[in-house]
Amino acid sequence: MRVRFWGTRGSIATPGAGTNHFGGNTSCVELTTAAGDLLLFDCGTGARQLGAALMAQGKKAINANILLGHTHWDHIQGFPFFTPAFVKGNSVAIYGPEGSRGSLHHVLAGQMEFTYFPVALDQLPAAITYHDLTEGIHNIGGVRVAAQFLNHPAMTVGYRVEADGVAMVYLVDHEPFSDELWRSGSEPGLIESILHEGDRRHAKFMADADLVIHDAQYTPEEYPSKKTWGHSAYDYAVQIAAAAGVRCLALTHHDPTHNDDFISDIERKARTLALQCGTGLEVFYAYEGCELALEPRSTLKPFVTAAPFQASVAQRQFRILVVDDQPDTLTLIVRALEGDQYIVSAASSGQEALRMIDEHLPDLVVLDYKMAGMDGMAVMRTLRAKPKTRALPVLMLTAMTDEPSTRAGFEAGVTDYVTKPFSIPQLTARVRACLARSQLP
Ligand SMILES: [Zn+2]
Ligand SMILES: [Zn+2]
Repeated sequence: MRVRFWGTRGSIATPGAGTNHFGGNTSCVELTTAAGDLLLFDCGTGARQLGAALMAQGKKAINANILLGHTHWDHIQGFPFFTPAFVKGNSVAIYGPEGSRGSLHHVLAGQMEFTYFPVALDQLPAAITYHDLTEGIHNIGGVRVAAQFLNHPAMTVGYRVEADGVAMVYLVDHEPFSDELWRSGSEPGLIESILHEGDRRHAKFMADADLVIHDAQYTPEEYPSKKTWGHSAYDYAVQIAAAAGVRCLALTHHDPTHNDDFISDIERKARTLALQCGTGLEVFYAYEGCELALEPRSTLKPFVTAAPFQASVAQRQFRILVVDDQPDTLTLIVRALEGDQYIVSAASSGQEALRMIDEHLPDLVVLDYKMAGMDGMAVMRTLRAKPKTRALPVLMLTAMTDEPSTRAGFEAGVTDYVTKPFSIPQLTARVRACLARSQLP
């Protein structure tokens, strides 16, 4: 398997003398298997040069599979300049997460409307197909690919590809689920010791990979002021990759304010931290033009073994109950979820919520932790004690970011634990992830 970086920058293209080495183009990575399958991860501005390089190979037909983590600008802006799409006889299959506000085709057509671009998406001569996907196992080209939700203020998925006896995992535009990575009293550095279920799932998804490409837009010092923006600092990526037994970690989605000198400096720090982890993890900051050949090994523990499946939330309408004793927060959340086409009801106390759940079982409960009278934890205990609501998905919403509260939440059986302050897009993405997972067989 061969992997090449064509775009490593996050948020916006950042050309100039100061970014010559690590690169100024936004996210785009090329993967080629020994059998010749071509998979592109994201289609930021780096996709222009990649398209030109593919055309220069002079092949009779180019069959490209584009796997988008999500459709924020820095991940799709290169598509209108991806020249293979302008040639009849080529085929381009585009995969991306099933969003809540329109299909992948609709979103991509949006940036090519006449106001923004002279050629409409439907006028492109290549055979273009669109595949809305979600968490699950997918056949893409001749390759089996696992997708898993990331934590970002938009529906975003990470991808795991296993082919040619190696595993490559692409996890870009993701931030930690919790401030604390480790559960207190447990041995740090092990997957089982990870506090938040979301971070543990994230670690398992990259377990034993040969190469993980991970978001590391910020430094650990910058991260607190950028919380909820959907990006990681290198310390999170390094520690979680080490715990997962990853061999090589490429940090990417560089912040536009970080020049080459700055990135070289944080690369040294990230390497020092990796050494301290003591697992032999190799770390580098991805740069444009960087090409890696991953050699097959017999010891790969496969993750992608199941038959293809996916958890979709597009086929039917879901009922959500929101429980919060703060009227303003309650209204805000109800409106946001109604905007995503769910049937939403509201309760302003724990007792009222239990009564409503008893009368009509919702598909998901969004539950505030701290409430006057019966609090969220008491509601949880009641729900988990009854057979009818034992498996009811509950997303707990809380200002309690500390380790003991997070641990107590998961021990009480919450499905997800979202801490305040949160942004509405982040909350709606987490709600959708909970609903999608509840549809898994
Ligand atoms: Zn991005
Ligand atoms: Zn994004």
